[in-house]
Amino acid sequence: MKVIVIGAGVVGVTTAYYLKAAGCEVTVLEKLPAPAEETSFANAGQVSPGYAAPWAAPGIPWKAMKWLVSRHAPLRIRPDGSWFQLVWMARMLANCTETAYARNKNRMVPLAEYSRDCLRDLRAEIDLHYEERALGTLQVFRTDKQLLGGQRDAALLAQMGVAHDVLDTAGVVDAEPALAQVAHKLTGALRLPNDETGDCKLFTERLAARAASNGVNFRYGVDVQRLVAHGARIDCVELANGEVLKADSVVLATGCAARAMALPLGLDLPIYPVKGYSITVPLTNPDGAPRSTVLDESYKIALTRFDNRLRVGGMAEIAGFDKRLAAARIATLKMVSNDLFPTAGPLEQASAWTGLRPMTPDGTPVVGATGYENLFINAGHGTLGWTMACGSARVIADCVLARQPEIDASELGLVRYGRSEARIPEGKSQPARIKWAD
Ligand SMILES: Cc1cc2nc3c(=O)[nH]c(=O)nc-3n(C[C@H](O)[C@H](O)[C@H](O)COP(=O)(O)OP(=O)(O)OC[C@H]3O[C@@H](n4cnc5c(N)ncnc54)[C@H](O)[C@@H]3O)c2cc1C
Repeated sequence: MKVIVIGAGVVGVTTAYYLKAAGCEVTVLEKLPAPAEETSFANAGQVSPGYAAPWAAPGIPWKAMKWLVSRHAPLRIRPDGSWFQLVWMARMLANCTETAYARNKNRMVPLAEYSRDCLRDLRAEIDLHYEERALGTLQVFRTDKQLLGGQRDAALLAQMGVAHDVLDTAGVVDAEPALAQVAHKLTGALRLPNDETGDCKLFTERLAARAASNGVNFRYGVDVQRLVAHGARIDCVELANGEVLKADSVVLATGCAARAMALPLGLDLPIYPVKGYSITVPLTNPDGAPRSTVLDESYKIALTRFDNRLRVGGMAEIAGFDKRLAAARIATLKMVSNDLFPTAGPLEQASAWTGLRPMTPDGTPVVGATGYENLFINAGHGTLGWTMACGSARVIADCVLARQPEIDASELGLVRYGRSEARIPEGKSQPARIKWAD
């Protein structure tokens, strides 16, 4: 079977790898000159099923109001002039109820856990290294209220069978000795011992090299212009250079660009670009750095140890496709880094980056079939694309090959929005625009 995968971020490359491993003839089309040049470039490095939770959570609307006036707030909103931004935010707000949160988390955690297990298998199978560590992650709290919230989360994790420990400050220092010097600022932590870390870009580049040596055809610098449908099938893929490519199946793994690509086909993917920032600091004092990931709950910023670097990432800006680096956001990342790990490395030598998370309002990615019998979506992984990449890729490979996925994937696709079927009016080759059902 011939399959075209569009996009060579971490999601597209893992998809291509597993499809090839399953015996498909795979071509990857990527508009940039190399893999992982967009959102998979410099993320916070967490492979963190333990923290797989939607951002739309009870209490968030109230917190968001307070954040709007706070200098180091994790969230900023700027109108981008689109109706879609308003609709997307309204949908996100609607997902902030206890019921929606529990439902969405129940979709996300099994996929994230499965994905971490697939990643472990892959590592063992092909001896892949990407400055990975398997030392768990630590969410640190600065107030008693946050600690109480952590205890509530622990109860949910217990229900889902996810290993975790709630720690007091002595336990925090045991887990991350470099925090000893700032332990007085903390009230405790939630530790997820089975979470992992690693450099997503290194992983993606090395897996792409491996996939290429297995026979996957990577075409870089190739801009996909549109997918052309005929009836209920994708007939061909048109490139900006006029080339037309055909395949038995097409997988859309274009992150934030997936929505624009799918809309002309009548598929209304609710994927919005939520901007984040990271800095990467060279380590001059490894003993003053975390051993793994420390997540600061107050600022929603993750600090992850790579071999000789500290990656500090976070922040959310709902402001459209704007990739300018805002000095104030970088200053917040440096402030938190300096506050928790003041001796780790020279912040003035940090390199800064910004990327757009492809986010759905319910936090769960869109992984599955569409109303077109040979078009599959693997996009919208938001804050957890690195965590969920291998599992989503395995699921989508199974969907393409009409096999039963190893986990329950019935609510991961567009079907959960009540619009999996592309209605194709008689005599037309393109389906009518599909509207959100809810
Ligand atoms: C600050 C920050 C921190 C984060 N931290 C974490 C973390 O710690 N853990 C975690 O799990 N996740 C994290 N994430 C999220 C994670 O990085 C993303 O979910 C993930 O990278 C998305 O991968 P992707 O392959 O879907 O998208 P991308 O990496 O953006 O890949 C999509 C690809 O499609 C290509 N493309 C687009 N249009 C076309 C076209 N027309 N033709 C051809 N190619 C096209 C693009 O060039 C791009 O290479 C973070 C994100 C940010 C911004």
